[in-house]
Amino acid sequence: MAKHILSIHAHPDDAETLAGGTLALLASLGHRVTIATMTAGDCGAIETGPEETTNIRKREAETAAAVIGAASACVGFPDLGIFNNDPSRRSVVEFIRSMKPDIILTSAPVDYHPDHEATSLLVRDACFAVSVPNYHAGDARALEEIPHLYFMDPIEGRDREGSPVPPQFGVNVEEAMDAKRRMLLAHESQRDWVKRQHGIDNYVEAMESWTRSRGRHLGVAYAEGFRQYTSHPYPRSPLLQELAGRFLLSPDASRK
Ligand SMILES: [Zn+2]
Repeated sequence: MAKHILSIHAHPDDAETLAGGTLALLASLGHRVTIATMTAGDCGAIETGPEETTNIRKREAETAAAVIGAASACVGFPDLGIFNNDPSRRSVVEFIRSMKPDIILTSAPVDYHPDHEATSLLVRDACFAVSVPNYHAGDARALEEIPHLYFMDPIEGRDREGSPVPPQFGVNVEEAMDAKRRMLLAHESQRDWVKRQHGIDNYVEAMESWTRSRGRHLGVAYAEGFRQYTSHPYPRSPLLQELAGRFLLSPDASRK
């Protein structure tokens, strides 16, 4: 049966970089995919103001999602304005309830960017609340069940001290690399920004190099890593792993 996979990362192009191949494979297997960002990426530009940048980047995010037939959505926070507080949690709960996903992929709990970490925390705790009928968040009704929750890799697979954060399992995305490249290319306004802010000359090559490095870790050419959040009362069955099927990679397999 087709599932709804909802990706919620902080900014446009984060999910494409860290899980674009997996989302492409899931879409090609007939599942419904929505790529949501917490912000529209309004600070990620030099020459355009926040409003114009928001419009440009929302269009780019839609184009990127359309590459794999996915929908695009934005929760509506401003860049560097994602905080774990009561109104923010209610906004995220309302958003998740309106989407009714079976699986949520979100950012890693520890990552280089404050928005990434705040997104991870908010999405994790919002999932706890989505099925609680007496928790009110806008007009959306409580969900029957908490969606299966997964964290993507942190950027470059490292925490803030530079220590590696190993994935619990991986997805072999070799067959999805063409789609992943085209998704990233849709974020064309980021070419200049990433060069200025991060000193990265070519953001698509940076993504390829990262996906290759995760592949090396898991014994294939290209891979993406994930960790499932299974604390009480979150679902523990390996739904994403089952959907990944023949593309699933176990870290133990590569160590043999
Ligand atoms: Zn980001």
